[in-house]
Amino acid sequence: MLRLESELLFTPIPEAIARLRDLAYNLWWVWHPEAQELFRQIDRELWEQTYHNPVSFLREVRQRRLDDVAANPTYMSQFHAVMSRFDAYMDARETWYTRHYPNGNHEKIAYFSAEFGIHESMPIYSGGLGILSGDHTKEASDMGLPLVAIGFLYPQGYFRQHLDHSGWQLAEYHKFDFANVAATPATTPDGGEVVVEVELPGRTIYAKVYRIQVGRVPLYLMDTDIHPNSPQDRELSARLYGGDREMRVSQEIVLGIGGVRALRKLGIHPTVWHMNEGHSAFLVLELTRELVAQGVPFAQAAERVTRSCIFTTHTPVPAGNDAFPFDMIERFFWQYWPQLGIDRNTFLELGRQDQHWGPTFAMTVLGLKFSSYRNGVSKLHGHVARGMWEWLYPGKSRDEVPITSVTNGVHSASWLAPELRALFDTHMGPDWEDHLDDPEQWKKIYEIPNDVFWGVKRTLRNRLVAFVRNRIRHRLERINQPPAPWQLLEEDALTIGFARRFATYKRASLIFKDIERLKSLLNRPGHPIQIIFAGKAHPADNPGKLLIQEIHHLSLQPGLAGRVVFLEEYDIAMARELVKGVDIWLNTPRRPYEASGTSGQKASLNGVPNFSVLDGWWPEAYNGRNGWAIGEEREFYSQDEQDWNDVQSLYHTLEQTILPLFYEQRDGAGVPHEWLNICKEAIVTVAPNFSFRRMLADYMREFYAPAIKDAETVGG
Ligand SMILES: *Cc1c(COP(=O)(O)O)cnc(C)c1O
Repeated sequence: MLRLESELLFTPIPEAIARLRDLAYNLWWVWHPEAQELFRQIDRELWEQTYHNPVSFLREVRQRRLDDVAANPTYMSQFHAVMSRFDAYMDARETWYTRHYPNGNHEKIAYFSAEFGIHESMPIYSGGLGILSGDHTKEASDMGLPLVAIGFLYPQGYFRQHLDHSGWQLAEYHKFDFANVAATPATTPDGGEVVVEVELPGRTIYAKVYRIQVGRVPLYLMDTDIHPNSPQDRELSARLYGGDREMRVSQEIVLGIGGVRALRKLGIHPTVWHMNEGHSAFLVLELTRELVAQGVPFAQAAERVTRSCIFTTHTPVPAGNDAFPFDMIERFFWQYWPQLGIDRNTFLELGRQDQHWGPTFAMTVLGLKFSSYRNGVSKLHGHVARGMWEWLYPGKSRDEVPITSVTNGVHSASWLAPELRALFDTHMGPDWEDHLDDPEQWKKIYEIPNDVFWGVKRTLRNRLVAFVRNRIRHRLERINQPPAPWQLLEEDALTIGFARRFATYKRASLIFKDIERLKSLLNRPGHPIQIIFAGKAHPADNPGKLLIQEIHHLSLQPGLAGRVVFLEEYDIAMARELVKGVDIWLNTPRRPYEASGTSGQKASLNGVPNFSVLDGWWPEAYNGRNGWAIGEEREFYSQDEQDWNDVQSLYHTLEQTILPLFYEQRDGAGVPHEWLNICKEAIVTVAPNFSFRRMLADYMREFYAPAIKDAETVGG
């Protein structure tokens, strides 16, 4: 296999464990803790320093450490066990896909996304959308789906978050060293490198294609930071969501049009094209252009493309949908529409959306128009999306608008605490992951003895408390501040987690609305409550940054200090710690703006009940015994009224239901049985139905398989 030259800089690896490199270059290790252990055991400190990145780890590890483990029989037997698991996975002939679709040919599903959240060491994601794409590739790999994923390799990724003395968010971009990324240059069938060309106004821009192996699924990432591009164009893919509109449209042209060209050069000819959100929607133009170039008239070409395309929308806020002014689109596409055999007006109509300030070219409109399969990401969001896009389907009532929904899920293996996995193995049998989405097997969770379960939960909370103290200490050291004069968190206190992007609709500060009431709730003698906050605001979102600052200030106030903390730098690693270590997961979006939300699913999978507004996925899961609802399922006259109603409901449930369950109903050994039953019910109801396995099986059945079948009957 072709590797980056820098690999020559690897510490020489003893022959016996040379295959650690194979492991490092396949992100399979990301969701196999036993594989991570192989690296960690060599040098724990270095494993932390390299932020759990095996590629940089292998570059920096000391030769002597490698020699030591290679001579250690215990290590070697672990090594062989992991490698044979890895090989069995990669070579498996039988997979979920072959079992369910035994007649599947070599059709390919191309999955496009602007961000992929796969591991903390690869910061090419910003939030839920990216995490979803990352989970999509991992689960597609587990299920053996013939999927290829396409996106961007942003050399500076998404920003790193620091708070200054006043709690104001600072964004730092670090150029990451490609030598530390498990990427290899992608190759054409005859071994050449893959560079694609795309026209932008007055110039051609080049993107080099890299390949990252995610289990069985290849992820192709384009990078424009390469030689013949102008310095400005080299910056184009530098940052995720970093630039202005001009840069954004350029990025999306590279993603959609360049992405199709990249696949062609790779010799990959997908039958199905899945656009995960509007950023990649230009791909439909390129697919149409290809057919027009072969002599197919535009209308027919467009129809054929439409039959093979799937569009998933994620944005219930109209302003959140990407749209560009017509004059900008004209500057970028005036040479392109003749190649489609259409004129300016016909072209602009493809994405036309009329807004108060004039018409724009909306990526969601383009994607919806060119797809036969369209969906929102929860039942409620499907309904919201049908309302938002009703105008696109004249003559149809809202309920007839052809946008369905598939509710999001999470890739269980990526988010489950290893300590709980061990419990699951014991009670459901070692092959439970083969039946991940089968609700029956999950009922065995009830058999876990409560004292054992409680022991695990306490361990996880203690570890989280240590993690938080450590992070806060580091921040204070960084900004030259003395350690906090109060104790930060208690190990046995009821711990609430709130972590997500700080978009204002998520109402991070809602719980502080009646501050005196909150203080008294947090400080009941013998019944303490503490809250851990984390999350990034978009660098251009000042209201979001003000929310962070507000919470930071509150966390220093008497009555809240020590009980409320804000952690910098929310990312995948921190999400993993939080969703398994807290006691409840708080979610307070302004209904109905949360399309799905997935962090509550991660928490529930770990036996951490969701405490949430009935928005996104939660109305589908909530059964009165697996968590708590905040507020009512209705529309409000004003936002103030909605906030006030929701927060009263929040305090009431916390005080009347949650606190007594957690603290008062304990047995002589301190085990809160009723509480743990709720935690178990959360696992039993959420783990199967909101798994990525269930989700991808739905996509397969409802979208991919029909589109594949359709392509066969059309003959390509
Ligand atoms: C899961 C996750 C998200 C998405 O969570 P929501 O509930 O959709 O807000 C965002 N960021 C990170 C790092 C995550 O792990």
